[in-house]
Amino acid sequence: MSNIVSRILNNCTNYVQLDLPQACALCGARAIGTALCPGCLADLPWLPPAHCPQCARPTPDGSLCGSCLRHPPAFSRSLACFLYAPPIDGLIQQFKYGKNLHLARFFATHFAPQVANRTVDLILPMPLHPKRIKERGFNQAIEIARPLARGLGVPLMIDVAHRLRDTPAQAGLPHDARLKNIKGAFVCDARVKGKRVALLDDVMTTGASLNELARAALAAGAVEVEAWVVARTL
Ligand SMILES: [Zn+2]
Ligand SMILES: [Zn+2]
Repeated sequence: MSNIVSRILNNCTNYVQLDLPQACALCGARAIGTALCPGCLADLPWLPPAHCPQCARPTPDGSLCGSCLRHPPAFSRSLACFLYAPPIDGLIQQFKYGKNLHLARFFATHFAPQVANRTVDLILPMPLHPKRIKERGFNQAIEIARPLARGLGVPLMIDVAHRLRDTPAQAGLPHDARLKNIKGAFVCDARVKGKRVALLDDVMTTGASLNELARAALAAGAVEVEAWVVARTL
């Protein structure tokens, strides 16, 4: 486990080497080379051990949640590091919109131990529509996937799937409307054929996008698909 973390720390991408944090992203305390000071790190909302194995939503006894029982998603299991709650929600916003890109390495470092024992053949980051990439300048899922894939020694495939449509926000829509909204939004090529695939995204909210991407990967011949997310909403 520590080997994985040290590989992530040692194999940082150029922007990380050029832009090492000097202060804790939450409280501003001096924290050279790490995103958070030890005090803020200890207070993070880590995902509780009792959660639905398929979608990572916390459940009282770790059993399947009602939503997965009613509408089983196309991915067979989900792994998450944090709850999408303060201050993780703020850190993800900083990362996505404030371009605090060194947080990618922070998320990858803390997520790696959660997925270190998984056997997958490739990591497939959630594709963004080209319009969103143009607006944001980067795909947040790729930025997290890069150090994570290096640390785990798992191939990263950033161009194996594409988003065909720019879909409106899923949150707040009823289940059937979410499925309709996202249906056919992704296409995946045959390089996933026969492979065990880990989809990677920053946050799972309704899970509808990850479900549709999993469907596309399975349709292209993937044998199994897991969803890996940094943070899970409640
Ligand atoms: Zn701090
Ligand atoms: Zn579930």
